[in-house]
Formats: sequence, structure tokens, C-alpha cells
Amino acid sequence: DDAVDPRAGEEERVVESALRPNSLADFIGQPKVARQLDLVLEGAKRRGRPPDHVLLSGPPGLGKTSLALIIGSELGTAVKITSGPAIERSGDLAAMLSNLGPGDVLFIDEIHRIARPAEELLYMAMEDFRVDVVVGKGPGATAIPLEIHPFTLVGATTRAGLLTGPLRDRFGFVGQMEFYEVADLQRVLARSADLLGVELSPEGSLEIAGRSRGTPRIANRLLRRVRDFAEVRADGRVSLEVARAALSLYDVDDLGLDRLDRSVLDALVTKFGGGPVGVATLAVAVGEEPHTVEEVCEPFLVRAGLLARTPRGRVATEAAFRHLGHPLPRGGVS
Ligand code: ATP
Repeated sequence: DDAVDPRAGEEERVVESALRPNSLADFIGQPKVARQLDLVLEGAKRRGRPPDHVLLSGPPGLGKTSLALIIGSELGTAVKITSGPAIERSGDLAAMLSNLGPGDVLFIDEIHRIARPAEELLYMAMEDFRVDVVVGKGPGATAIPLEIHPFTLVGATTRAGLLTGPLRDRFGFVGQMEFYEVADLQRVLARSADLLGVELSPEGSLEIAGRSRGTPRIANRLLRRVRDFAEVRADGRVSLEVARAALSLYDVDDLGLDRLDRSVLDALVTKFGGGPVGVATLAVAVGEEPHTVEEVCEPFLVRAGLLARTPRGRVATEAAFRHLGHPLPRGGVS
């Protein structure tokens, strides 16, 4: 139960849905993606046709699912949700595609993890709004083409680099989501506090925003935890003191690093003398999958200036040594 893990558990997704922004006007931050998307949607509305397929890329918890739902609500169409790993057979995807209504949005989370046969089926669906349904097996198998309604695919990925060229090329719009500035996270917190009926002071909000790892999901989660503390141990108001006491109770680091971030940095500094070390070796040292270290942990450590990705491997920066309270190596960092 890590307070600053940017990923959400199933139960959390239910709680989260109450705090989701419902329109682009409600969507805070990400000015570049939001403005570009606004144009794409407006153009499509004027032409009376579904917009180009949209790929949203960036670390977990930055609002990709929220944006996919917003695209549906801005267009006034239904959104069907699935994920790359959930599509095991191409037949499942064909069924899903043929059930879409005209102009619907199909949201595929973690689209880089889709199985290859399903991906190939998706090419034709995205391009020609057609799927081939294969009937029979072996040499007697025949492919029957089936028309589907024009739709918009919204794909989300934490690793755009892992998408195959042909899939990436079929998206007309690619939005790169960035970590949020503290001021934007404060706006997210103010909106959520309003919806939850929490009295949040500006100082309390700044304290929570600064430890939220640039991620609205974490900001909202910390707000819920701090609210519990405020209600049980104080007068219900989230002041600076209440925010600090609650966050230290939940072990939230002043930079918002979570347990995995800290163990990655710690291993890099103590076991590998600050690096360089390959990501696979580093992942084994902390008992994690390399893709989790790469997709969940590293983007924030890089942005916080604590870790650098170099051609020779991962390297801890001076700031990382200082943050861990570890003396710098004698010859300086690599
Ligand atoms: P994952 O990849 O893990 O599914 P995600 O990038 O799809 O994450 P969301 O599920 O859309 O992220 O967002 C997580 C939570 O953060 C949502 O419940 C929503 O309340 C909040 N949130 C995200 N972006 C914004 C925003 N721009 N404004 C307000 N709230 C936001």
C-alpha cells in the first residue's frame, strides 16, 4: 500500500471516477495536448465525421483515461474501454469492433501490449473500418470481410517507443503527456477538495502538491489520506501542519518518491557505486520487472534530476546521493 505509487488498484479506480474531469474545460494542465486535442475535436465536429485516431503517451496517472472519456463526451458518443493485455484473441477484438456504434470511441489502455494477430486486425479496422472474420481452420479457412462503423481509436501507452511502426503510423494525433507543475496540481487539489467537501488551506495544498510526483492521481490519493487524518486527529481542516503530519505518517518523501523509486536509487548508489548499470541488472537488484522500473519509476527520477539514462547505463546524480544522505564517491559521480 504505497501512497505515492502512480498506478491505481481496481478499488481506487472506482473512487477515482468521482473526481474525473468531464470536459476539456475541466481538464487541468497539459496545455499543449489539451489545445491540440481541442482543435482535432472541433475540426471533426465541423466536418461531421469522427476525428483521427488518437495516441496518448506518458507515465501512469497523468490523465490518459480521463482524456479518452472526455473525447467521448465532447463528441457526444459512447466510449468502450479495454486494454492491450485483455485482448487475448483477435476474435475478441473483432467482436468488440463490430459492436461499436457510429462514431463511438474505443479506448485501448496499454496498447503496446496488444497481441500481434489482434494488432494486425486493428490496422485494417483503423484504416478502412473493416475487419476480416476468419471462419474455419487450416487450409479450408476463409476470411469474410465485415464492415464496421467509422470509430475513433484512443490508445494509451506508457511506452510509445514499444509500438510497432505500422500501428504508430495509423494514429493521426499523438499527444505526449507531461508531468504536472506544482501550480497545476494545486488546481487539481482545489477541484477535488471542493467535490469531496474538504476544507483545504493554500499551504496544505502546496505541501501535498509538492509531494505528488507531478501526478494528479497521487495528488488526489494523498488528499484523501490527509483528509482522514484531518478528520480523526484534527478539526477536519487541512492546514500545513495537518498535511505535514499526515504525509510523514504515510512515509511520503518530501520529493514524493515512493518505495520503489527509493529502492532503485538506493541500489544504484550503494550496490553499484552510482552506476553506470543496465536497467535489467538494476531491476533484479530491487526484485522488480525491468519494464516497471523503466515505465513507472525512471521517468520521474529523470525529471527530478536524480537519475540519468546514459548509453552506458543508469547513473545516479549528485542530487541522488544528497537526497539519500549518502556521501559522494571520491572521484565524483560518473
Ligand atoms: P493509467 O495509465 O494508470 O490508467 P491515466 O493516465 O489514464 O492512468 P487517469 O486515470 O485518467 O490517468 O487519471 C487518474 C486520476 O487523476 C483521475 O481520477 C482524475 O481524477 C485525476 N486527473 C488526471 N488528470 C487530471 C486533470 N488534468 N485534471 C483533473 N484531474 C485529473
